[in-house]
Amino acid sequence: MDILSLSAVETARKIKNRDLSVKEVLDAVFYAIDEKDKKYNCFITLCRDEAYARANIVQAQIDKGEELSALAGVPIAVKDNICTKGIKTTCASKMLKNFVPVYNAHIVDLIEKAGLIVVGKTNMDEFAMGSTTETSAFGVTLNPWDTTRVSGGSSGGAAAAVAARMVHLAIGSDTGGSVRQPSSLCSVTGLKPTYGRVSRRGLIAYASSLDQIGPIGRNAEDCAALMGIIGGYDSGDSTSVESTPLELEKIKRYSLQGKRIGIPKEFFGGGLQEDVKTAVLAAVNELKELGAEVEEFELPQVKYAVPTYYIIACAEASSNLSRYDGIRYGYRSDGAESLFETYVKSRSEAFGIETKRRIMLGNFVLSSGYYDEYYKKALQAKDIIQKAFSDAFKEYDFVFGPVYPTTAPKLNESLSDPLKMYMADIYTVTANIAGLPAVSVPCGFDSNGLPVGMQLVGRPFCESELLGVVYSFEQKNDAHEKTAGGGTV
Ligand code: GLN
Repeated sequence: MDILSLSAVETARKIKNRDLSVKEVLDAVFYAIDEKDKKYNCFITLCRDEAYARANIVQAQIDKGEELSALAGVPIAVKDNICTKGIKTTCASKMLKNFVPVYNAHIVDLIEKAGLIVVGKTNMDEFAMGSTTETSAFGVTLNPWDTTRVSGGSSGGAAAAVAARMVHLAIGSDTGGSVRQPSSLCSVTGLKPTYGRVSRRGLIAYASSLDQIGPIGRNAEDCAALMGIIGGYDSGDSTSVESTPLELEKIKRYSLQGKRIGIPKEFFGGGLQEDVKTAVLAAVNELKELGAEVEEFELPQVKYAVPTYYIIACAEASSNLSRYDGIRYGYRSDGAESLFETYVKSRSEAFGIETKRRIMLGNFVLSSGYYDEYYKKALQAKDIIQKAFSDAFKEYDFVFGPVYPTTAPKLNESLSDPLKMYMADIYTVTANIAGLPAVSVPCGFDSNGLPVGMQLVGRPFCESELLGVVYSFEQKNDAHEKTAGGGTV
C-alpha cells in the first residue's frame, strides 16, 4: 500500500481498523522525507526519536480503544515559528538558530492530545516575512512541481512537504497570506481561520493583530479534521474566542444551491497572469454548475490593502522583534564590548536583510513625527476595509478571487524587487486586515503545468461553510488529486 497516497483521514481510519500501525505510517513518512527532502529542503529540523516515542504512546492508546480524534496516528509537520518543547524552533533565522523552547504552543498540545505525531519543523521565510522562503537562513524550499521555482511563502516548507507527499498534513501560519499563497503555488488546500479561532499562544509573533495559525492538507476533509482539533478557546491567549467545533459530516452535506458568491472587479484587473485568470474563471463556472449564483461587484477599497497591511505588519514586527537583544535568548555577538554594542552587533549579525528592512520601516511609521501620517492612517484604512467586507457579506455568502497574481515565480526573481513582491499580496492581505476566514483551493494549472489556486473568503467563523464549498468543488474538479511530477493519486 502506498501510504503517502492516502489522505490523512483515510490513513487514520486504516490505523483505527488495524490495517496499518502507527509505526508503519511513520516509517513511510520518514522514508519519503529521507528520499525527497534532499531535493526540496522542506524541513529545518526532524524529530525522529520524539516521533517514534509518541507513536508508541498513541498506538497503545488506540489499542486500548481510546477515541482520540479523526486523525489519531497521523504524522504532521509544523512550521518552525510554532514552539515545540525540547525541539528547536528557529523561525528560519540565525537569531533563533539554537533556540529550544521549554513549552509547547497551545496547538501543539492539542494536536498531540488528538494523537497526531509531529515529525519535524518546516522551512519558512525568516520570522514569516516573505512570500518565497528565500529569506530563510536555511536556504530556499524548492517547488515540487518545478525545482527551478519557489514554493511560495512564508509557509513554503509546510505546503511543499504536503504537495511532495512527504507528510499528509502540515500546520502553517498566515499573517498576510502565508498559508494560502504557498498552498496555491504547490496545489494543496490551505485555510486561514477567523482571527481568534485558533490560539496563537506559542506562535512566535510577527504581527500579532494579523497572525493566525491554519491547516494545510490535501483536501477539504483533511483540513476540516485538523481545524476541528486546533480551533477553540484558549484562556492563555487574550485574543482567543469561543467557537463551535467543526463537524465533518456537515461539511460533506453542504450545498452551494442558491448561495451567493461575489467577485470584486478589482481582483481581475492588471497584473494578473492570463493563465491564472483563465483557470480561476473556469473554476467560477464550476461553482455556478454546483448551484451558486455568482455576481461581480465593486470593492475599490482593495487599493488600500497592501499599504495598510505593510504599515501595520511592519509596525507590529518592529515591536515584537525588539525582544531579540542578544541578552535574554537567541544569538549573541562575540565581538561586543558594551551593552549597547551587544544589542547592535547581535541584531546586525543575526537578522537577515528583509527582516531588517521591516524593522526599520516599522520604527519609521511609529516614530513621533510620522505616526499620524502613516500608522494612524493605516488603522483608519483598516476600518474602511473591514466595513467594505462586512457590507459585501450583506449581499454575498462568499467573496471569490485568485490567491496570487502568478504561478510559482522562478528562484531569485522576487527579492530583487521587494515592492513588486509586496504588491503580489493584494489578494490575500484583505482577509487578515478584516480578520476573516479564507481558503486557498487547487483549481487548475497554467500552460507550463504549474498549479493555480482560487480563494474564497467567508463571514467570521464560517470555516465550516468554506470547507463545505471546497468539498463540493472537489467532487467536480480533480486538481487537488494531481501530484507533483504528474499523475493522479
Ligand atoms: N507575504 C506577506 C509578508 O511578507 C505575508 C507573510 C505571512 O503571511 N506571514 O508579510
